[in-house]
Amino acid sequence: MEKVQIMDVTLRDGLQNESFLLEEEEKLYLANGLAEAGFRRIEAGAFVNPKAVPQMAGTADLFKNHLGQSASKSDFYALIPNEKGYELAKAAGVSNMAFVMAVTEEMNQKNVRMSVEDSFEQFLKIFQRSKEDQLNMRLYLAVVFHCPFEGVTDEKKAIEWINEFQHLGVADLCLADTDGMAKPEQVQRVLEATIPVYTQLETTLSLHLHNTYGYAAENLRVALKAGLRHFDSAVAGLGGCPFAPGAKGNIASEDLVAICEAEGFDTGIDSKKLGELSQWLGNIKLERTKGQKA
Ligand SMILES: [Zn+2]
Repeated sequence: MEKVQIMDVTLRDGLQNESFLLEEEEKLYLANGLAEAGFRRIEAGAFVNPKAVPQMAGTADLFKNHLGQSASKSDFYALIPNEKGYELAKAAGVSNMAFVMAVTEEMNQKNVRMSVEDSFEQFLKIFQRSKEDQLNMRLYLAVVFHCPFEGVTDEKKAIEWINEFQHLGVADLCLADTDGMAKPEQVQRVLEATIPVYTQLETTLSLHLHNTYGYAAENLRVALKAGLRHFDSAVAGLGGCPFAPGAKGNIASEDLVAICEAEGFDTGIDSKKLGELSQWLGNIKLERTKGQKA
């Protein structure tokens, strides 16, 4: 059976748009549980301003005290928005990082308070340093399909960015449908224009879906058909970007696994273990959001 690899982003993208917080021990329990369930890549936090994103506070301690020296078969990732984030992550023992850059000006300003050009410059510097430091660097391209501020993303421009990064040697590139507004035809066109480069260069191209209008499952099927084999998801479909108005949860890991397996792919995920984690997290959410307005 052909394999599909799933990166779980519950602890970062999932939590950051939720109104409840997890303690360090709970984050560790979830990270280890996800590894046990078979996720080989797990995003566990972000080095961002804890005042702006309180859910990500404690990421440095989580890596310093636990994940940075974990003997797990899985790789734990942390998101960094800039060079300062790189320094902090490196100091905490993070060896797998993810940088984020939006392909539209307004989203990039809102998300990381920089122009796209400045983010690109920062990325090139950080990417070079990561190679010298022998750290893995993933690049998220945000709002590849649709931007909450600028509308439908210029497809030609998005494809140019994707192919440029692949040619620059970025071996791990993730295309994010940040606000969950990508349409299946659009996903198909963008992948058809970028998958040949990915196949030729043997890079990892991933798709990061949100389920705002229920398109995520169809977008996933289109991507599988186009030949994509790497996807992101979050347990129970938690999450969304706090700086992208209207953005809903990530595609649920449970749905992603079920759809991939129904389409004949092997995800290597233990659905029973995943279900237990989902229930555990759901109970915490229920308990901590009682009485809060949605
Ligand atoms: Zn996301």
